[in-house]
Parts: sequence; structure tokens; C-alpha cells
Amino acid sequence: MRWAYELNWPGIAGGFVGRTTQDVRDDTMRAALQAMAGERVLVEAEQVHGGEVAVIVEDALHDASVCIAGVDGFVTDAPQAALAIYVADCLAIFLSHEGAPAVGLAHAGWRGLVADMPGTLVRSALGAFGGDAGDLRVALSPCIRQCCFEVGEEVAEQFDAMEGAVDRSRERPHVDLIAVAKAQLREAGVREGRVEVIDGCTRCDPERLASYRRDPERCGRNVALIGLG
Ligand SMILES: [Zn+2]
Repeated sequence: MRWAYELNWPGIAGGFVGRTTQDVRDDTMRAALQAMAGERVLVEAEQVHGGEVAVIVEDALHDASVCIAGVDGFVTDAPQAALAIYVADCLAIFLSHEGAPAVGLAHAGWRGLVADMPGTLVRSALGAFGGDAGDLRVALSPCIRQCCFEVGEEVAEQFDAMEGAVDRSRERPHVDLIAVAKAQLREAGVREGRVEVIDGCTRCDPERLASYRRDPERCGRNVALIGLG
């Protein structure tokens, strides 16, 4: 596997791997993921479309890989952890706490955003490792963008109060996940200039990116990885 986008942050290793054709539970895929993690412990989340973030301590890293139940994100200052999140149309949110140093990673689709996952990730990092929002930088992965994210009214109305989040100029409402995540990060104290948005709409770019909306049968996954180093 090769990076579609590599994080160019000081003291950080990681990035975003575009469309993988296999399931992340597949043997070949496991081997590839493990190879990317190298000597580190691959830390995965159950990813239940919730809003929980775990703090990963060194003692939890006892196998080649560990999966944390019931969470969609994690933060850690353990240098041997390689945090991994798998997405198809949802967002992966990368975080670096430069003051600690520590890293964080989370999965958020519209349900995760309703649960304020971006804000929770920020508060978890500051709660666990101290410092303030000025120590943080964040990157938002490719996801299904507003061009393609058509939703029902029950989803759209969750975001109506947020300026610029819902486009109602077309027949059905379209939600801008990036606009929502940015607003929540701003609310949590992260300055606009410290938030990078990685280009690409998963549904628009079949060559590079996996999309469940586009290929429900065989979409594969996009892989987000981050660690200190
Ligand atoms: Zn699109």
C-alpha cells in the first residue's frame, strides 16, 4: 500500500492510503497494514458510529495489534502505537498535539458529527496530555463531499442550525461534512489556519478512493494511520 497523502507534520509519521480493494479483515490486508505499522502496535477501533474517544496507554499495547471496543477515536502519547481508522465515505480526523507530543485519530460520519467527534477528539487530547488548543493541528481526510452527500430530511435537519452545512439548492438536501467538522473544531478552540483539508470526494474519485455510496458491494476501505515518529 502507498500513501495517497502523507502527513507532513514535524515529529509525526502517517497519512492516508486511498482505495484498498480488500476488506481490512482479509489476511493480505492485515499483513499490509502490519507492514505499514512496522515495529509499532497497530491500534484499531471498533468504529460504532458513536462519539467515544479512548486514551491509549503503553500498557494496552501488548500484542502486534489491538482493537479498542466501543470507540471511534483515540489519542495516545505512546511512541510505539500506530493508530488506524478505516473509512469509505466517512471522515478520518488526524490530530497532532505538538506540546505533548501526542497524536489522535478518529472516524466520523454524520452520526459522529452529530456527537461532536471533532470537539471530543480535541478535548480528549487536551484532557489527557494538557496544553491548549494552540498546541494542536488537525487534518481532515477525503470523505463524501457536499457534491455527492445527498441525505434525507431527518439527517439534514441535524445540521440546519450550522451555517453553510446544508445545501438546499438541489432537489434533495446535501450535507457538507467538512464544513461541520471545521465549525466544531473552531468551537473547540482550534484555529482555522491549523486545520488542513485533504482534497478529494470519495464518491467522485473511483481511481483513488473507496466509497460505499458508489460501490456498496465491493468498496474496500481508505486507511488512515498516524503515530509519533
Ligand atoms: Zn463528490
